[in-house]
Amino acid sequence: ATPTSIMVGTGRAAERGVLFRSGAALQALEDVRVVAFDKTGTLTEGRPRLTDLIPAPERPGTARPDTGFDPDTVLAAAAALESRSEHPIARAVVAAAAEKGLGLPAVSDFAAVPGHGVTGRAGGRAVAIGAARHLAGLDLSGLAPHAERLAGQGRSPVFVALDGVPAAVLAVSDPVKPGAAEAVRALAGQGLAVALVTGDDRRTAEGVARDLGIATVLAEVLPAGKRDAVRALRERHGAVAFVGDGINDAPALAEAEIGLAIGTGTDVAVESADVVLMAGDPAAVAEALRLSRAVMRNIR
Ligand code: ADP
Ligand code: MG
Repeated sequence: ATPTSIMVGTGRAAERGVLFRSGAALQALEDVRVVAFDKTGTLTEGRPRLTDLIPAPERPGTARPDTGFDPDTVLAAAAALESRSEHPIARAVVAAAAEKGLGLPAVSDFAAVPGHGVTGRAGGRAVAIGAARHLAGLDLSGLAPHAERLAGQGRSPVFVALDGVPAAVLAVSDPVKPGAAEAVRALAGQGLAVALVTGDDRRTAEGVARDLGIATVLAEVLPAGKRDAVRALRERHGAVAFVGDGINDAPALAEAEIGLAIGTGTDVAVESADVVLMAGDPAAVAEALRLSRAVMRNIR
């Protein structure tokens, strides 16, 4: 491969909003056999809206039922913490509290656990928000059926605990990007395997995969697990391209033969990637592959 033809190829790609970090990336893309997509922010808009807030009883298991957690109190505490997080779910929670004009309590001891959720103190109360695994040790049996039902509707449920008591299940809905189905079709048409790798709930992930025609789903995957998912896909199919946008995708972007970052995603993802898709359109992946093949054909 001559340096000149690779420069021409990367130049042509750049005109279409596909930035190759190196000529080697353009060459390596040709050998890819499977394309694995992150879900949130990559195949979906990543701008979910809060659709549900289902409060739990304040004293679960007691004989005398009570009125349950006040929804606005839960939302304000959750939004206070989430205002420190970059996660799309966090943005939805903050936006919902702002729409209701809720004042947010002061936050301390904030910590984010990628792939799990966030914890901290808000207005003097201990708050935890995230997936069930983030609230390990708490009895979520009262809220779990609600979470199941919401996931079955393609929404992403998260649990909120206040002072160590399950307080509510929230759900956000995140529409798929217009180019997502086309991207999957185009890649499959080029003879590639397509997979969905996500930290989100299994039922939510399967709903999205079904809509997009993706057969292979790896759900409830932790950030380090995304790296293992890339290895597993490599064993099964061959060279892997991973497409992602989040901090949680960095290990997978680095592990894959080719990491493609959504340009509108987090800095960490962009820095871990070999290719940046400026417009954030997943269909650009198929375009990048076509270009790589065309350039490599011309070279030989
Ligand atoms: P994805 O792979 O879909 O981008 P992540 O790995 O970022 O998902 O997150 C996986 C799960 O962890 C989310 O579906 C959610 O349940 C939980 N989670 C992560 N960060 C947060 C947060 N800031 N607030 C609430 N839940 C979160
Ligand atoms: Mg993501």
